[in-house]
Amino acid sequence: MNIINKLIPKHFSLNPSIQGSVSLIVALCLVIIFSSIILSGVFYWINFIKGVYILLYTMLAMSGYFMVLRITKNLDFIGGYFIVQSIIISLLLSTCTGGGISPFVMWLFGVIPVSFLYFKRRLATTWSIIALSSYVVLIVLQISGIKMEQFLPEKLYFGLWGFMFVFVALIFCSLFIGFQSGIKKASYRLKQSNDDLKNSNEELERFAYIASHDLKSPLKNIIGFVGLVKRRHLKQLDESGQEYFRIIENNARHMNNLIEDILEFSQVNDRGIRREAINLNKLFEEIKSNLEAIYPKAIISADSLPVIQSDYVRLHQVFQNLLENGLKYNKNKVKKVHIGFKSDHQNIQFAFQDNGIGIDEKYHTQIFEMFKRLHNQAAFEGTGIGLAVCKKIVHYLDGDIQLSSTPGIGSTFHISFPKTIQEEKLEIEPILDQV
Ligand code: ADP
Repeated sequence: MNIINKLIPKHFSLNPSIQGSVSLIVALCLVIIFSSIILSGVFYWINFIKGVYILLYTMLAMSGYFMVLRITKNLDFIGGYFIVQSIIISLLLSTCTGGGISPFVMWLFGVIPVSFLYFKRRLATTWSIIALSSYVVLIVLQISGIKMEQFLPEKLYFGLWGFMFVFVALIFCSLFIGFQSGIKKASYRLKQSNDDLKNSNEELERFAYIASHDLKSPLKNIIGFVGLVKRRHLKQLDESGQEYFRIIENNARHMNNLIEDILEFSQVNDRGIRREAINLNKLFEEIKSNLEAIYPKAIISADSLPVIQSDYVRLHQVFQNLLENGLKYNKNKVKKVHIGFKSDHQNIQFAFQDNGIGIDEKYHTQIFEMFKRLHNQAAFEGTGIGLAVCKKIVHYLDGDIQLSSTPGIGSTFHISFPKTIQEEKLEIEPILDQV
């Protein structure tokens, strides 16, 4: 009884009435299978008709197995016996009914789809190899002269062939249907979790947008009054009062920058991404003249850039952020940033290279995360959102962004896009000296 209980899948034990019936089926199956295994050896020495009865009993047991196991999909243990028994019986019957051309060979082959239908792949492969190599041994024995006679009357022989063929064909069909519905279910689940993820992302973006948008107006008032106090009353404060005031002013400005950047981040999404022809040389020139106003001594240069199909506003953000970072995180007297461009048959690549302070290798992936900063506000002002925005934009434009850098020497941000977005390469001379 204990053994039978072990053979019953756990979830049946929860319901005593179901457990009773399942135990009975399993016990019956076990009796039939074990007796057929024992008798199948014996029947070879007696005669074939008894063998056919044994076969019928075994098939009955097999159906019992299917009844239990199809419901439970838990063939790992009980199903193992079924397969071993199928291989042994079909080999024994085949040797008495023509060897390699016996109808029972089909039963041997039936083991393969059944294994893959119900077992884990490793176990199924093992059973399949055993079944196939048994067949090969059978054939080799036959070729090397061992006679396997065919005792069956012709009608029974063809009847069995037909039955076995249909049996295996049905197994193949159910394997195919199971496979198809498995794929359908898996892709449905994948789509659902994708949709859920998209929804929660959109919700988060909406939340970030609303929160930062609503924070903006009270902060605007604070900044306005800070300016007013600064102009009218700052001189009335003593030295420490003026210092505290500066701290308030800096923090208000920092908070304003944070809110602006969070708003910017939350507005980057795949909705409304435009695809228009952009002459990157013009875009670069625009950013360059903005940056030269802030860093007049900097050398800002670029290779000859292509015309691509992309979103102007988004690309502007990326180019501006990366070039500005190259100048901001830079303690050189002559700060240099350069955009390199190359293309191969699959991708177009931009390299934003600077001669700045560089970034330690352990931060190369972290710095693309939201709010990740390697310096405090006193050393370099910032919010830690710029690179996260760049990564998000590049991702939505089907590209990739990577960093290579040596601390003390400089950094290069590599951006690549699929070649399909490139329109044409403008053959003009490099705009400025390279770094
Ligand atoms: P922010 O500049 O507002 O702090 P970013 O996301 O643009 O935010 O940058 C994140 C961090 O990565 C920065 O705080 C800085 O420490 C580092 N970083 C970014 N660009 C460079 C660069 N070109 N050279 C050195 N460090 C950089």
